[in-house]
Amino acid sequence: MHELAIVEALIEQVDRELHRAGQKGRVVELNLAVGRLSGVHSGSLRFAFELLSPGSVVEGARMNITEPQADCRCRDCGHTEPIDELVAQCPKCGGGNVVIEGGRQLTLDSIELEPNGP
Ligand SMILES: [Zn+2]
Repeated sequence: MHELAIVEALIEQVDRELHRAGQKGRVVELNLAVGRLSGVHSGSLRFAFELLSPGSVVEGARMNITEPQADCRCRDCGHTEPIDELVAQCPKCGGGNVVIEGGRQLTLDSIELEPNGP
């Protein structure tokens, strides 16, 4: 399950970001974008997160995952359509000259910290 390695890297990234920003607050939320074509299963990601977060900088944080769609664009007829899985043919004209755009990203969009007390 490569989601474990992904979450490990994610926690390291959060740690680095907090250090860089000089923040010491507790992390309450993480916002992730996991493209539908990224091959990453968000359920497994959550499972790995629960496994790895205790004792780390993101312990107790909530992980929000959005799953951006990909677009299939046809070079023959110009048709563009959102897709949930890879296609090799244009859904409209059946041509094979399609480009898949987006949907493969795996990014940490934002980190929300607990507001610091006075
Ligand atoms: Zn087409």
